[in-house]
Amino acid sequence: AQSSYRNGAPKSLGVRRGVRGNFVPPVRFNGCSTNGAAAAPRQQTGADNGVEDSTKKCLELLMGPDGELPERLRNLEPKLIEHVSNEIMDQDPNVRWDDIAGLEHAKKCVTEMVIWPLIRPDLFNGVRSPGKGLLLFGPPGTGKTMIGKAIAGEAKATFFSISASSLTSKWIGEGEKLVRALFGVASCRQPAVIFIDEVDSLLSQRKADGEHESSRRLKTQFLIEMEGCGSGSEQILLIGATNRPQELDEAARRRLSKRLYIPLPSAAARAWIIRNLLEKDGLMTLTDEEVDAVCTSTEGYSGSDMKNLVKEASMGPLREGLVEGKDISKISKEEMRPITLQDFTSALQQVRPSVSQNELGLYEDWNRQFGSLA
Ligand code: ADP
Repeated sequence: AQSSYRNGAPKSLGVRRGVRGNFVPPVRFNGCSTNGAAAAPRQQTGADNGVEDSTKKCLELLMGPDGELPERLRNLEPKLIEHVSNEIMDQDPNVRWDDIAGLEHAKKCVTEMVIWPLIRPDLFNGVRSPGKGLLLFGPPGTGKTMIGKAIAGEAKATFFSISASSLTSKWIGEGEKLVRALFGVASCRQPAVIFIDEVDSLLSQRKADGEHESSRRLKTQFLIEMEGCGSGSEQILLIGATNRPQELDEAARRRLSKRLYIPLPSAAARAWIIRNLLEKDGLMTLTDEEVDAVCTSTEGYSGSDMKNLVKEASMGPLREGLVEGKDISKISKEEMRPITLQDFTSALQQVRPSVSQNELGLYEDWNRQFGSLA
């Protein structure tokens, strides 16, 4: 498969040397991007003159014990490395399995398929070697991002998160370099989880003919980096998330070899979300029967719809106080009435489910065809 990406691989003239001085072929190999960087003089590596202090600090944190930047970072723009370190990397995503409602089966599979291999790579080689990447697909707002963060949290891995559509829109022309910086920094921060939201916008099956040259190069670079992730001893897990799995092409499906459907929450999961959100703020005043009644009326709501519903309902007592002529600056929490079922009934008029029955059918079809647990 590698040969089909050769044309898009970074080219460089001159002798190439790998980390240990061995010859490295002029294409990307085994997860290490090599652009003749080892031959580059130090002052061109970005750790010296003309580089702002904040950038220098970032680079220092990535230097090896020899005081040098790892080879694959050396000829990348320092500003891009800084952007990855400050904006895309998240040392503590702060989500645990217990924060995610339902999805028990997905959690169990993810634990076996990707968390254990990240924690104990030595046990997961040979026949046990894990797949290269994980795809989380399903309707928007169902917890795909939360799962990505929880995987990083549970595996004590560094979390990198970027939306693929920002690579194609915000980083026009620079996306390819940013992708190299992203995977380069991740390789210095292993174990690492790279979460690519809206991965379909990067790896869609729309044909290359009409594609802009830069987005074609971006896609190629990304596929090359993905290939490297799953090879050798790299402890980097790539997670792609999408609401439009149908858009993914065959190459993307092959690289994201574990594909988990993250469906809408069950009634029990919806009840959990309501309780959890209200209890966190000490606002849980509904009876079990009332929570059940809300759950019955919220068939088809996503996790994020449920969150919006609870938010809207929680505004009920406050709005009522204001209608009664109370002054917002003087209102005390104690004098506000508790949240009632009626607040939820009114909120249900405002917050509608964001996913249609039609769309659900498409996800289920795709899951039957390509899903790992179907
Ligand atoms: P996705 O990545 O699938 O679009 P997110 O993970 O970003 O969705 O979820 C958006 C918000 O919706 C979360 O921050 C959370 O508040 C809520 N949410 C969604 N699914 C769940 C869930 N299964 N459990 C708890 N909260 C959820």
